Amino acid sequence: METGYNRNVEEFREKEYPMLADAVYLDHAGTTLYSKSLMERFTADMMGNLFGNPHSASGSSQLSTHRIEDIRLKALRFFNADPDEFDLIFVANATAGIKLVMEALRECDGGFKYGYHRAAHTSLIGVRENAVSSQCLVDLDVERWLSGRESLVDEETGSKTNLFAFPAQSNMDGRRLPLSWASRARKLNNSTSTTYTLLDASAFVSTAQLDLGDANTAPDFTVLSFYKIFGFPDLGALIVRKESGAILQERRYFGGGTVDMVLCVKEQWHVPKAQSLHESLEDGTLPFHNILALDAAIATHKQLYGTMDQISQHATFLAQRLYDGLANLRHSNSEPVCVMHSHGFNSKPSPHMQGPIVAFNLKNSHGAWVSNTEFEKLAAVRKFHVRSGGLCNPGGVAACLNLEPWEMRQNFSSGFKCGTEADIYGGKITGVIRASVGAMSTKSDAEAFISFVDEFYCETVTSPPVSPLSVSQSLGHLFVESLTIYPIKSCGGLEIPPETGWEVRPEGLAWDREWCLVHWGTGQALSQKRHPRMALLRPMIDFEGGLLHVRYQGTLPQGLPKEISVPLSENPAFYSGSESKKSLSSRVCGEAVVTRMYGKKEINKYFSEILGVSCVLARFPAGGSGFGTRHSKAHMQKHQRPKTDFVPDVPGTFPAPPTPPDSDSEVQKRPILLSNESPILAINRASLDALNEEIIRSGGKPASASVFRANVVLASATSERQEPYSEDHWTGLRIGRQTFQMLGSCRRCHMICVDQDSAEKNEEPFVTLAKTRRFESKIFFGSHMCHIPSKELTKEGQYPTIRVGEVVLIES
Ligand SMILES: *Cc1c(COP(=O)(O)O)cnc(C)c1O
Repeated sequence: METGYNRNVEEFREKEYPMLADAVYLDHAGTTLYSKSLMERFTADMMGNLFGNPHSASGSSQLSTHRIEDIRLKALRFFNADPDEFDLIFVANATAGIKLVMEALRECDGGFKYGYHRAAHTSLIGVRENAVSSQCLVDLDVERWLSGRESLVDEETGSKTNLFAFPAQSNMDGRRLPLSWASRARKLNNSTSTTYTLLDASAFVSTAQLDLGDANTAPDFTVLSFYKIFGFPDLGALIVRKESGAILQERRYFGGGTVDMVLCVKEQWHVPKAQSLHESLEDGTLPFHNILALDAAIATHKQLYGTMDQISQHATFLAQRLYDGLANLRHSNSEPVCVMHSHGFNSKPSPHMQGPIVAFNLKNSHGAWVSNTEFEKLAAVRKFHVRSGGLCNPGGVAACLNLEPWEMRQNFSSGFKCGTEADIYGGKITGVIRASVGAMSTKSDAEAFISFVDEFYCETVTSPPVSPLSVSQSLGHLFVESLTIYPIKSCGGLEIPPETGWEVRPEGLAWDREWCLVHWGTGQALSQKRHPRMALLRPMIDFEGGLLHVRYQGTLPQGLPKEISVPLSENPAFYSGSESKKSLSSRVCGEAVVTRMYGKKEINKYFSEILGVSCVLARFPAGGSGFGTRHSKAHMQKHQRPKTDFVPDVPGTFPAPPTPPDSDSEVQKRPILLSNESPILAINRASLDALNEEIIRSGGKPASASVFRANVVLASATSERQEPYSEDHWTGLRIGRQTFQMLGSCRRCHMICVDQDSAEKNEEPFVTLAKTRRFESKIFFGSHMCHIPSKELTKEGQYPTIRVGEVVLIES
């Protein structure tokens, strides 16, 4: 069953591709390889002829000119395009072709609206910056638009011109998109609007026949790079359907070779060349040596491979084998080794829907991601040539890895950029691995790669991952009664719903005190102590919409909206401009790292009017952003802490203790063994019960757990009563699978007297605490702790979470 496999390739492979030697080259989507015959034919042509700069009268120049025009026709014919109906403009690469189209369209009356498919290469996406409005589309959007139910781009502008761009094949996962979109788009044209179609055929043409045989159904503009087909030369083409070509004359720039006459002294006037489209668009001296090489490339390619259809069958056959081999790899606990992203191989192999690109990621036997950068390093040592990362295809990668925009921003802010080392954040991997085959690939390439993955990434002995503690194991122990985060420092809490596993990050619970309100004048962060109404500002996190919503529970001042929202995304555009109060924010923490102030008037007005104090919303820079301090959030909290006389037992060994969530308290003097970067506050229900008994005895109003603004409330799992204040002696905790180190008790001030539901101030529980829990004139309630990251390579290790109901074990 070797349908489509070309045995000849094995025969000539060693001779034609000596540079492969013992390498396994699986990056044909990056570029395919040039054959020895091609290079020899090109060299012979160069040595045997005298080529001058084209377009002048000398014999050598004329030779170049004539050859270029012949090669232009050959290239058109290669794509079955009739020279009467199409023109081909030589450009540096596909990207240059895209820019040429963009340069013309932006000169249209009213500019142009731009719709591009989510599978688009970065080079297509960049066009949006020149459009009056733009939109990224998925199949459904395209279908709705083509069936006339929706416009291409939602936003209404005065523009009558649309540009719709899509790749014929995704360079990320090899999906082939419907070429019929081009002709269907044309049918929508009427007197009020014209849509031009731009097909990025770069990845497609590498292993498939682009057929422009019917000018009526062809895209208006098609771009591609020849090195993707032939390996050489580095040259691109923009193929224009002549009927739609006039629009390209709109571009303003003219380069040498594109004009018949130019006046520049005293008068400014020029006449574009008008004979053919390509004459007016090919700026400067053509890459004529490259064009001559294209001649050799086309001829050699035909000689070695016959037709593109033959290549297509060969490559599809190999890619399917590669896909099946990887998809079937199993760890000894039967968990899959590879997570596959190229879905076209799943169904019946069909070259109409899937190109020979296999995109995937690796997981270990516990379901944790294997870092792509690690994989790449090992692959390089073993001489496998594959690509990994974002692959210049942001939409495709985000879609298959479920990355939300705010996560990508977050990742970016915490140091992730294209081409950097770390690639797993918050339990998600940020790039894919791509293996792509081409005309000169062989079965042994595919097999060697599968064996490599099998050898290094298939685990034959799998240690059982640590299981979460079950209740029966720990009768008489504690469990997590509730989890709360305070997205805006000192404002209302957000209770984590019982069934939700909440991420524990190095700097605390995810989204805990990510924002704060800063006094406009002094730069100090506002606190409930002075502004009790802050308790009534209730935040909500909407992960799908990527927004933090804030509502006020009290009586809203007139004219304010019910709710305001800020993006979770770290978009610099949301923050104040250049006159942002830098000096102000630097006083907050006394460091070069500053919080970022939101510039939006509505947001700051909302908080200022409710609290009756002029303030701005600010965000802490993401943890580990590398501005000379590891976790600026922890830093800022440290700097806001009231002065303490804390002296570590071993000077220089221990960092200063963390401050509690609302910075109005400090840590009891005791040696601290770990970092100061994980301020999580826990309280024990047994201690609260004991405290409330005291309060009731003296006739006061019992305190709710919420006044202590803890992140974690622990309670007894049985009716057996826990010893109150036993937490003073704990050294560590295990919550579910996660381990925490206790850092000391939390010092309290009268902020705990603010009722979190009414914002009213009471006497209790401060008064009773002062009587019962005072040590060296300081008052303590609750404990600080920090998470100890697991070294285990498990899903949970990469994305540590805790949840309500989990069992808690105590170390003391
Ligand atoms: C390779 C590729 C490009 C970019 O080609 P350049 O030669 O870098 O301009 C664009 N789109 C797709 C689909 C590609 O595969």
